[in-house]
Amino acid sequence: MYTHTESEAYPVFGVNISSCSKEDFFVSVNERLLNSEEGLTPLFVVTVNPEIAIQSITDNTYRTILQSSNINTADGVGISWAVKYLYNRSVDRITGSDSLEKICAACTTLDQSVFFYGAGPGVADKAASILVTRNPGLRVEGVYAPDSPDIYYEDLPLSTQIELKHSSVVFVALGAPSQEKWIYDNMHHLTRCRLIIGIGGSFDFIAGTQKRAPLFLRKSGLEWMYRLYKEPARWRRMLRLPLFVLNILLLKASNTTAPKNKLINVPKEEIA
Ligand code: UDP
Repeated sequence: MYTHTESEAYPVFGVNISSCSKEDFFVSVNERLLNSEEGLTPLFVVTVNPEIAIQSITDNTYRTILQSSNINTADGVGISWAVKYLYNRSVDRITGSDSLEKICAACTTLDQSVFFYGAGPGVADKAASILVTRNPGLRVEGVYAPDSPDIYYEDLPLSTQIELKHSSVVFVALGAPSQEKWIYDNMHHLTRCRLIIGIGGSFDFIAGTQKRAPLFLRKSGLEWMYRLYKEPARWRRMLRLPLFVLNILLLKASNTTAPKNKLINVPKEEIA
């Protein structure tokens, strides 16, 4: 099974971005879903965007979490740009929304149950029923929208704890960094879980409470502009984007982020 600790990865501010293709990623997901060995920890997936990478510079706890996950995909176009700029390598973009849809389809085929955690009241419920309609036979073990992102597993209703414990896949939609922190702090309780992933606003996109940017904007890397237009309250977070670009440019110029001998498992002759 692919994980970035044993294959090529490209560090962006100390966060290893996995080099696996989209196809490899979903092959790994399928392999993990099929693996019924007891005692394995869940495959912990983070879909990294520039805001996450920037936050990891100053938030040591968050950086540790992102270094402990199994696969960090390039969610935003900013991350794939940074990898290209620093390492002259192309990485596939794998977003939370893509993952949610495809993993639900895989769970249906492989008869594995899912749990939808997070988002506003009623949103995950609506997303769950839409996904069940799209994937007849999908087993939704449970849905829960916590009042706060900081609620620990032990403080959840008993029925939710049991449902979480029985789920093969847990989708967590609390926004970054809360979702990754929740996963890190609570994952050890989920003894039957095979895969756990933070998916940001994906339940909202499926439920229709938020619209995804039109395809041409997504393809041209301008989805952030559309989200800013739709949710002006995000402007403060968006300030991290120019900061991200500036830091990448500075790091490349000072040649400190990507000293060639610090690349993980990248054969020297392949480094531009
Ligand atoms: N969210 C939540 N609790 C919170 C903050 C956010 O359940 O305290 C949910 C929010 O309703 C949305 C999802 O987390 O469904 C993603 O939020 P956001 O858009 O901030 O995350 P991003 O997609 O930018 O990571």
